[in-house]
Amino acid sequence: MSEPKIHPEVAAIEEDIIATRRHIHQRPELAFVEHETAKMIAERLTAMGMEVTTGVGKTGVVGLFHGAGDGPCIALRADMDGLPIQETGDSPFKSQNDGVMHACGHDGHMAMLLGAAKVLSGMRDRLRGSVKFIFQPAEEGGGGARFMIEEGVLENPKVDEIYGLHLWNYQPYGTVGAKEGPILAAADVFTITVRGKGGHGAVPHTTVDAIVIASHLVTVLQTIVSRNINPLESAVVTVGKITGGHNFNVIADEVILDGTVRAYKEENRQTIINRLKEITAGVAATFGAEIELDYREGYPLTVNHAEQTEKVKRAAGQVVGDGVQFPYLSMGGEDFSYYLKEIPGCFFFVGSAPQDREPLTVPHHCSHFDFDEQALLVGSSIWIELVIGLLQ
Ligand code: MN
Repeated sequence: MSEPKIHPEVAAIEEDIIATRRHIHQRPELAFVEHETAKMIAERLTAMGMEVTTGVGKTGVVGLFHGAGDGPCIALRADMDGLPIQETGDSPFKSQNDGVMHACGHDGHMAMLLGAAKVLSGMRDRLRGSVKFIFQPAEEGGGGARFMIEEGVLENPKVDEIYGLHLWNYQPYGTVGAKEGPILAAADVFTITVRGKGGHGAVPHTTVDAIVIASHLVTVLQTIVSRNINPLESAVVTVGKITGGHNFNVIADEVILDGTVRAYKEENRQTIINRLKEITAGVAATFGAEIELDYREGYPLTVNHAEQTEKVKRAAGQVVGDGVQFPYLSMGGEDFSYYLKEIPGCFFFVGSAPQDREPLTVPHHCSHFDFDEQALLVGSSIWIELVIGLLQ
């Protein structure tokens, strides 16, 4: 694999991009309260001469510039929220906010997009069309994308194509992962409440034992993936929490199971939902209990559009050459999926595994998370190549 070709105008502001990342890393904020982060971003975009809108989808910030001629409107998106994690490790730019940490790389996403914004805003007389820079709150579960869409982020001017990227510690520096079709999973949540009839632990025949019923459920739910889903396709059903019971000699009247469902195809997601309904109803009938299923749809599948994926691969190829590869996939979810349900676009991964550590030892969402800062230059360079390719 050859050394990435960093865009010269990105190389010229390398120090600024890395300093920005560290500044943000020290000041992480949780979903929908990214006030200081948003303020800093708005100031920077304003200084670049952009039209800036704040408070979009609660704390989101949008920067817009028009090129010299008419053309499409391209949106580039970065997410802004940190995670409720106490940072361990002792980097000089460690989080100063106790219990909050940029442990997914969103600090890098913002730094890359601000770097690209700076370079691109200086090129605007060479571009035909407009570029919208979307800084979105609450990716980690809050669904900030949905709020920004509801508040019109894809309108005025109407966005023709949207792109998003994620630093990806599962891939080495100098690689980019992109593919058309599904790239991240649908991530849903369920709660199953089993209501039986309590009683004395020594007098079971007068009761309906919610613990025995819940135990059957946990086991039978595992047959959904193993027996109802094509084994060549990926899906997950996890029961992550069981709550119930009173004492060793008391038969439980109620047990609650909490879990998550992941699927890579809408069809499989529907199969899982249907089987959950059938199984809970069937087990309820078998044991004479009442079982309630509360299924809550989370982020939809993130599905890339073919044409825009090709454009990303082309732009990424100009930076990392043959480092463009099939992505390291996971069953994680992303609210970028909401944009891709509205308009064409592509979400891709920029390899950022720390070069001095063993592969896969610094996963996202861990308290010692860090990434290779050189990957920021790759990301900014791809943003620039992508926009030039689309608008020149
Ligand atoms: Mn993330």
